[in-house]
Amino acid sequence: LCVIVAAIKLFNSMLSFYSDLDRAWGVLFLVVFSLWTGTARANPRTPAPVSYELDLRDPGSHRVSVTMTIPDAEPSTVLQFPAWNALYQIRDFIKDVERLQATCGGEPVELTMPDSNTRRSVPKACRPLEVRYQVYADGAPPFSSGLNTAHAFLNPAMLLFYLPDQRERALRVKLLLPPGWKMATLIQGSSPDEFDAVNYDALTDSPIEAGTFEEYSYQQAGALYRVIVDDGEQPASGTEKKNPGNGRRAEGRRDGTRQYSADALVRTLEKITSLETGLMQDVPFNQYAFIIHFGVDGGGMEHAYGSAIAVSGQSARKRLAGIEWVAAHEFFHLWNVKRIRPQALEPIDYVHGNDTSDLWFAEGVTSAYGALSLLRSGLTSRSDFYAHIGGQIDSLEHRPARHFQSAEAAGRDAWLEKYPDYLRLERSISYYNKGELLGFLLDLGMRYATGNAHGLDDLMRRLNYDFARQHRFYSDDDLLNIVGELAPRFDVRRFFREYVYGTADLPYERYLAYAGLKMKQVRVEEADPGFSVERDEEGVTEVESVDSGSAADLAGLKAGDSLLEIDGRAPGETLAFSPGQEIRLKIARAVEQINLRFQIGRRSETTYRIEEIHNAAPEQLAVRRGWLQGITVTR
Ligand SMILES: [Zn+2]
Repeated sequence: LCVIVAAIKLFNSMLSFYSDLDRAWGVLFLVVFSLWTGTARANPRTPAPVSYELDLRDPGSHRVSVTMTIPDAEPSTVLQFPAWNALYQIRDFIKDVERLQATCGGEPVELTMPDSNTRRSVPKACRPLEVRYQVYADGAPPFSSGLNTAHAFLNPAMLLFYLPDQRERALRVKLLLPPGWKMATLIQGSSPDEFDAVNYDALTDSPIEAGTFEEYSYQQAGALYRVIVDDGEQPASGTEKKNPGNGRRAEGRRDGTRQYSADALVRTLEKITSLETGLMQDVPFNQYAFIIHFGVDGGGMEHAYGSAIAVSGQSARKRLAGIEWVAAHEFFHLWNVKRIRPQALEPIDYVHGNDTSDLWFAEGVTSAYGALSLLRSGLTSRSDFYAHIGGQIDSLEHRPARHFQSAEAAGRDAWLEKYPDYLRLERSISYYNKGELLGFLLDLGMRYATGNAHGLDDLMRRLNYDFARQHRFYSDDDLLNIVGELAPRFDVRRFFREYVYGTADLPYERYLAYAGLKMKQVRVEEADPGFSVERDEEGVTEVESVDSGSAADLAGLKAGDSLLEIDGRAPGETLAFSPGQEIRLKIARAVEQINLRFQIGRRSETTYRIEEIHNAAPEQLAVRRGWLQGITVTR
């Protein structure tokens, strides 16, 4: 399969190079080329798989002991360790690799270090070359790796060296588990503690969960869905840091009761998978797995055959609201980004990263489908959906950076998101946020221009059939061409120029009117406390920050103060104030207790509300119905 994918990629690049090449000749060339590569594969000298043994039997140490065995290493074999995976952030995973040792044919050898991510073996062949090391893994799902006494969640790219010259080589992974633990991966056909991956990319697209998880499953449209649940309980290690992908200590399940209803969870997922496979008219797998951690809100990470989701137990108890949004988004990714894949993300460059200029489409449009799927499957109401869009407009309109940074540029700069300063409202916008709005507007624009004959759903299905299923990757030109074919009267080039590559104000009113909707700006007066707080694991409320010049600041409140009382009472889980309210705080600072008194400030905010026009025309109602229900008229 991979050889054929490579051939098609070559074929594509030739097609774009010889742009006047007749398509039929191109297809003939592809057939001949495939036959030729097929012949080349007919007498393979398939090398034995590279194997990895992952020893998890000392979970309290947070250290995974890895033994990598290359049965037949050429002289000066190069090994490399990824610097990123899951998040579009260079995270230098090699920083967690300890005690690296190697043997060549059983004899200890020194590996050289061409650069910090790379090691080179000795200038002679090794049968085998064995590399042993430990990886310190004390992060949280779904973007990091962690091993502790409760469970392990492992992103293979954070643990395993690869051979840059043999990325397509088959791999075997074996786990040594603590007593009573079991293992789950997204790769099918695994034995209880061992599995094979066709190549390194497939392996890094399959996180591993090990522990005492619970498992549910359901069948739908010929596929098996596995639901693997780790119900919280990560013991405090005292060393977990508050940074992206490394969540705080989980609220644990300490009394043996579940934080969630298994029935409600499975029924919710069934609705989402049914709606989205129906929308795409496609079930491109035999098996798909949701690996769910109830503990801390971490988010979700998409994979081709599953997703890893981490949400707080609190959101699980509240009618699964948190998990619905994440699951609907991640499941749609199995097409958009995993199979409907921008050319710029391939081949994966594990060291330097890839060009991510298409993230407004890969992430933003996926978010649009997350919201549409929940609405269309009845998991959210129409008013929730409108409120959600209003909230998205709020988010974008409150970021001054929208005047300077385009949706495309925000995607390209995703790699800077690990720096908190980059996230300032003046510096960056979110490609999730603007991309989602662009998805909605594109849908409305296409439906309006075609009298609701075509919309975004058709674009996604075309991308799936023309690209994903042909193992081709798409470019921006492909997007423009397909929209142009589906909706010839919609000026998609101008849409992209102004709103995707440019920073023109988004034409909300005009596009919403296509569906008989109007946007209302509402000015509301809100409380501006001038400080923010944070509750730690012990329930202590601590002042996180104080706005300089605010009444709180002038009264003497400082970051790091512990809040003991507000108006004579212990602070509750959430703090709510009204504008202009006079408050009395008792705080602890070092050994002192201090009383402060000040007035909560006011600020006036514009929020956006989407409302239906009552006397909308039939054409507007047709677009509205089509958009909300996912239907088009056939003409
Ligand atoms: Zn996503």
